[in-house]
Amino acid sequence: MAARPMPYLDDLNPEQRAAVEALEGPVLMLAGAGTGKTKALTTRIVHLLNTGTARPNEILAVTFTNKAAREMKMRVGRTLGEAIEGMPWLGTFHSICVKLLRRHAELVDLKSNFTILDTDDQIRLLKQLIRAAGIDDKRWPARALAGVIDNWKNRAWTPDNVPAGEAGAFDGKGVALYKQYQIRLRELNAVDFGDLLLHMVTIFQSHEDILAQYQRWFRYILVDEYQDTNVAQYLWLRLLAGGHKNICCVGDDDQSIYGWRGAEVGNILRFEKDFPGATVIRLEQNYRSTPHILAAAGGVIAGNKGRLGKELWTEAPEGEKVRLIGHWDGEEEARWIGEEIEAMQRGTRGMRAFGLDDMAILVRASHQMRAFEDRFLTIGLPYRVIGGPRFYERMEIRDAMAYFRLVVSPSDDLAFERIVNTPKRGLGDKAQQTIQRIARENGVSLLDGAALAVEQGAIKGKGAAALGKLVVDLSRWGRMTGDADLSHMELAEIILDESGYTEMWQNDKTPEAPGRLENLKELVKALEQFENLGGFLEHVSLIMDNESEEQGEKVSIMTLHAAKGLEFPAVFLPGWEDGLFPSQRSMDESGLKGVEEERRLAYVGITRAEEICTISFAGNRRVYGQWQSQMPSRFIDELPEEHVEVLTPPDLYGGGYGAAGGMGQSGLEQMAAEANVYNSPGWRRMQSRAGERPLSQPRESKSSVIDAQAISSHTMGERVFHQKFGYGAVIGIEGDKLEIDFEKAGVKKVVARFVTGADD
Ligand code: ATP
Ligand code: MG
Repeated sequence: MAARPMPYLDDLNPEQRAAVEALEGPVLMLAGAGTGKTKALTTRIVHLLNTGTARPNEILAVTFTNKAAREMKMRVGRTLGEAIEGMPWLGTFHSICVKLLRRHAELVDLKSNFTILDTDDQIRLLKQLIRAAGIDDKRWPARALAGVIDNWKNRAWTPDNVPAGEAGAFDGKGVALYKQYQIRLRELNAVDFGDLLLHMVTIFQSHEDILAQYQRWFRYILVDEYQDTNVAQYLWLRLLAGGHKNICCVGDDDQSIYGWRGAEVGNILRFEKDFPGATVIRLEQNYRSTPHILAAAGGVIAGNKGRLGKELWTEAPEGEKVRLIGHWDGEEEARWIGEEIEAMQRGTRGMRAFGLDDMAILVRASHQMRAFEDRFLTIGLPYRVIGGPRFYERMEIRDAMAYFRLVVSPSDDLAFERIVNTPKRGLGDKAQQTIQRIARENGVSLLDGAALAVEQGAIKGKGAAALGKLVVDLSRWGRMTGDADLSHMELAEIILDESGYTEMWQNDKTPEAPGRLENLKELVKALEQFENLGGFLEHVSLIMDNESEEQGEKVSIMTLHAAKGLEFPAVFLPGWEDGLFPSQRSMDESGLKGVEEERRLAYVGITRAEEICTISFAGNRRVYGQWQSQMPSRFIDELPEEHVEVLTPPDLYGGGYGAAGGMGQSGLEQMAAEANVYNSPGWRRMQSRAGERPLSQPRESKSSVIDAQAISSHTMGERVFHQKFGYGAVIGIEGDKLEIDFEKAGVKKVVARFVTGADD
């Protein structure tokens, strides 16, 4: 066969090229961030296809997300310059295993049309089993058991081979319940997520012929982000690669960030043992980031013990130092980042101009997103949230808001339906149908229907008492909205507590539960900027309205976990404070394991940046309306001084802001004025003292937001100017919001505060 041209090889350095050309036998590419691992892996696929070594369906390629899979497919097609006939086996572990399991379901007593349970179904099922076993499910909640079982599945332990050391789990009844759970799943012709891999491992282990068939079929195996595979995934790969051993794994031990989900970085270290004679390739040239950014990342990760250790270098020009900036509080941080993004669009501080797509905000915890989303909506800065719903779309936020809505407008039937049995009140489908019927027959709202149902004794069992309580509670909370001595934040907390909603998540032992509780706290915090619950609900409905907004360039907001493998010219890393990042949980853990994983996350964060990396922290955060003084993250101390520029007050409080309003310098401003404050020995002490001062906000007080909402002095048809969208005509007025037909940007709803008369 005449060799086809291979121009794609010219884009690689010699080490990458070696990884691409070593098609036969095991290859491990172990290298730091931005060294071109993913690029090499993608080119390897191109090479397999281009040289006719493999057909698309003979390549098994595992990526970490579906998005990464799509991108890889696209790149392969583009590099080859021809549409490839699909690559059916390029995807995530889960997506590939679903396909395989449908073909062989009968081998684990399932039918090929099995359903995949979501977490809610899983918990419901476990709860039934726990109760049937006569166990008090208040003390031993189903969610805790779900966590235990997931963990076992990640380790590829079936009920029969859970080790004796684990026998104490779930009051000593874990293994027996696990066994029953698996039986029940089979009866239901269902699997959970963990089963997808576990069943396939079981099938491969017990059916040599089937394993052999796939070993022949998948002639080449490639795995990206190998450091984050768990034991079950690892076993699955090892089984499939067992024949030909044409497996190429790429990863970076310093970027292992899923230990909490059972990922085992040790899989990297075992690779050479399991595949003797493996070609191990190390890449050291980084093509993504500037030297300052790399050095800063290197300085932080050096604090971890037991690393394989890698040096990265780059030919890129020196560029900007990593920028560090302290803020008074979280709102101030969001405000500054919003303004900085707009300034960077224009080109500021001698930097080039950046597009919105070039910029990303990477947060440690999803609740941090709320401040940014609110801020960006207010100033009309387009953004997208990657890898998860936006703040106000999250389940727990929608549940909580449904309670608020029902308190403010008792006839909100959708809200009623959402929360009537959340938390569980023993009001199943039947009870809910009864309420619906009574409401319909009497022509009243569901809530009134519920009250009637209770009165008439139409609902039986323990649900009746719970429903009665809900009805009474809701009307009491409704009356409390008029109580002048009670703030609406306090009322919100009372509602969430007395309804049992907060408690529901406190009892929840899944890894997501603490995040949900944080989000609820954040929700209460968001209320602070509004005069009452009603005003807040209106604000949120406006946000949801604008949701399907225009296409086009947007700033990305995502968690650090979701940012793995991605890159952006400019990255903002907010909230570098002890307790937030590293997280409180990791700091409470005994030993260093937790903090080390957080440090790897910091490394992942910094190394996403190509040109500009801005780290920030706030001196104060509000939690449940209470000020808490924050300590700058220990990771800030670990940033090598010579690669960091501390943005000082003139940068901080100059330019972008209007007149500062004659505020005196706050303690924090003073400290930020000292060069390298973060490194001075007295910094932490001073900072914590600053947090205890009687707090005055340094600038625009929160009340100005409220003030502004009261003044919508515009008239229909008036020609106005908006800071962001330019000129337009007012076509609608709703409280503090205006609907404006902009000459360039089209029809939009905006906050009146940012609109002036065109002639002003
Ligand atoms: P991560 O560990 O963050 O996943 P990675 O090692 O997978 O990083 P890639 O994403 O493959 O790195 O590459 C980082 C950047 O460097 C990409 O923009 C890629 O196009 C570029 N790059 C990789 N190799 C080369 C090369 N040999 N020449 C020029 N640019 C390269
Ligand atoms: Mg990569």
